[in-house]
Amino acid sequence: MQNIYLDWWEFWLTIEKFNCNGCGLCCRNVDKSFLTVDFDRGDGVCKNLNLETNLCKIYYQRPIVCNVDAYYDKFLSNLMSREDFHNLNYKVCEKLKKREGLIPPR
Ligand code: SF4
Ligand code: SF4
Repeated sequence: MQNIYLDWWEFWLTIEKFNCNGCGLCCRNVDKSFLTVDFDRGDGVCKNLNLETNLCKIYYQRPIVCNVDAYYDKFLSNLMSREDFHNLNYKVCEKLKKREGLIPPR
């Protein structure tokens, strides 16, 4: 039998958490922000990115700037809504994806 409480909980988690599709483009452009430039291995790619899997090698210990929701909770929750911060981040993701041709220009 379907557990509607579990379904609701999963739905809530989906809408509250930043929705990253794991394209890895932010980790390949760390030189574009002063917040992440220190991770640059010299060509804009983060030194912690596993190039074969496209995954972060230190995911569970990654810097807070790489964790949208944790960053929001620690630094921005008094300044803007979580939704607004997510939308700002989605704009950057979209910009990176457009530049790589992953999203056709409008
Ligand atoms: S660019 Fe956006 S969608 Fe792609 S990995 Fe980074 S946060 Fe996720
Ligand atoms: S530390 Fe990990 S999550 Fe952060 S930019 Fe580097 S590879 Fe990406």
